[in-house]
Amino acid sequence: MEKIRNNIKSVFIATFLGSAALIWYLVFYFEARQNLLFTVFDVGQGDAIFLELGGKQILIDGGPDEKILSKLGRRMPFWDRYIDLLILTHPHADHLTGLLEVVKRYDVGMILETKVNYTTPEYEEWRRLLKKKNINIVVAQAGQVVRMAPNAYVDILAPRENFAGGSPGNVHDAMIVAKLHFGASSALLTGDAEKITEYKLVFFEGARLGSDILKVGHHGSKTSTTEDFLRTVSPKIAIISSGRKNRYGHPHQEVIDRLKDFGVHVLRTDEKGDIKMKSDGVKVFYE
Ligand SMILES: [Zn+2]
Ligand SMILES: [Zn+2]
Repeated sequence: MEKIRNNIKSVFIATFLGSAALIWYLVFYFEARQNLLFTVFDVGQGDAIFLELGGKQILIDGGPDEKILSKLGRRMPFWDRYIDLLILTHPHADHLTGLLEVVKRYDVGMILETKVNYTTPEYEEWRRLLKKKNINIVVAQAGQVVRMAPNAYVDILAPRENFAGGSPGNVHDAMIVAKLHFGASSALLTGDAEKITEYKLVFFEGARLGSDILKVGHHGSKTSTTEDFLRTVSPKIAIISSGRKNRYGHPHQEVIDRLKDFGVHVLRTDEKGDIKMKSDGVKVFYE
């Protein structure tokens, strides 16, 4: 008798936990349909940014390893195995390696990348995988617009040239830089863009760079976040994606000081873990 009672109790608890998990998923799923959710994942030393709106999902870079899979697993409902768009900002392993795992396990609608010439085992595997899976690839170039909803879109601001098959001296100079617009709110996503790209962006885009959020270039390295660029973007919040005690010393104190001098609120993945932002189209909230 006692055994039966215990069994009933376990079934009850399991059902309760199961329904709680399902409700949690549903709340999350429908919330993502109204607000734009913008998450900078803590993937250690690397970049991975996830955008969700109205059931559409965009993943920008995948970090240095398979950590991205558990991060996505927590953000996406279990039945959802489809990501609308992957953007590979550039082929460095701290941005690319996680995407290899994502492409292996998820269906992907489209890939936006530069197709720059680069020879590393990860990038060669990437090329092989995309061919095998026959995924649509679009070569990124300034002027393209990816629409997520009538009032939400991603504007590609760099590179200005078509780098497919090209071999720039520094692969960071062929960076995909994108500005995310949702109603009146915006975020500038710079990948590992360095001074040259920042200079071009200020030169060609000027005040159009203005954004609420700046995903700081190159993990807060002093190769990036120049004074002119910062003045033009004029963000309220800066997000730095860098690993705890990483061997590069990112983010650089000089960059942190500059951001503070400009009155920008700095959030770092090495201190806060995943950084989740939400926008209702008017205001941006930090969760
Ligand atoms: Zn990087
Ligand atoms: Zn890089």
